[in-house]
Amino acid sequence: MEKGPIQFWAGQYLELLINNKAYPYSIASAPEDSEIELHIQFSPSHPGSMIVANAILESSQIEVNAPIGAAYLREQSFKPIFFVAGGTGIAPLYSMIQHLLHKNSKREMHLYWGARQPEFLYLHEQFVNLSKALKNFHYVPVISGANDDWHGKKGLVHQAVIEDFTDLSQFEAYICGPFDMCFIAREDFAKQGLNRDDMYSDAFQFG
Ligand SMILES: Cc1cc2nc3c(=O)[nH]c(=O)nc-3n(C[C@H](O)[C@H](O)[C@H](O)COP(=O)(O)OP(=O)(O)OC[C@H]3O[C@@H](n4cnc5c(N)ncnc54)[C@H](O)[C@@H]3O)c2cc1C
Repeated sequence: MEKGPIQFWAGQYLELLINNKAYPYSIASAPEDSEIELHIQFSPSHPGSMIVANAILESSQIEVNAPIGAAYLREQSFKPIFFVAGGTGIAPLYSMIQHLLHKNSKREMHLYWGARQPEFLYLHEQFVNLSKALKNFHYVPVISGANDDWHGKKGLVHQAVIEDFTDLSQFEAYICGPFDMCFIAREDFAKQGLNRDDMYSDAFQFG
C-alpha cells in the first residue's frame, strides 16, 4: 500500500484499518488543512466504534486507507447547495463548507443539521457565527427528541428543508448521516423537484 500525505476532495472518507477490518469515517477537515480531522461517535450501540476507541487508546499508529467516496463537493457547479446532516454526518459537510470558505465561494449554502438533543450539535456556535458573518451561509438546526426548551425547528431534519422550500429543482444536495435518513431524504427531495443526479451521499453507494 502507498504511504504518504492524503490528498482528497472535500466530502470524501477514509478507512481506519484495525485487526483486518475497515472502519469508514468521513474526513471533516478541508483539503487545504495540514491535519486530518475526524468526528467519531463512540457508542455501545455501534460495537465497531468501541473497537475503534480501544485501538486509538492502545495503538501509537493506525493504518489508513484513503481517499474513498464519490459524494464529494462538485466544485464546477454554481448551484445553491443544501447540506443536510444527521449527527456526525456533519463531518464531510464541514469539510465542504470550510473548503468553500477557503475559496471565498459566493455559492448559496443552506446547512440543515439534525440531532436528537441540542447538546449533540457540537459545532452549533460556529455555524451560528458563520451565518451572521456571511450573507450566503444559512444555518438551521433541527431537534428530533422531545425538548420544551428548544424553540427552533423540531422533527426530522430533511422535513425541515421541505417545509422551508417548496421547489428544490434548482438546488444541489449533499446528505450525510444514518443511511435510512439519507434514503428517505432522497425520495422526499425528488418528489419536491430535486434532480436525483444533483443529490450526493455515501449512503447511495452502499444501497
Ligand atoms: C461512508 C461512511 C462514513 C462514516 N463516517 C462517520 C463519521 O464521520 N463519524 C462517525 O461517528 N461514524 C461514521 N460512520 C459510521 C462508522 O463507520 C461506524 O459507526 C463504525 O465503523 C462502527 O462500526 P459499527 O459496525 O459498530 O457501526 P454500525 O452500527 O454498523 O453503524 C454503521 C452505520 O452508521 C451509519 N452512518 C453512516 N455514515 C454515518 C455518519 N457519518 N455518522 C453516523 N453514522 C453514520 C450508517 O447507517 C451505517 O449503516 C461512517 C460510515 C460510513 C459507511
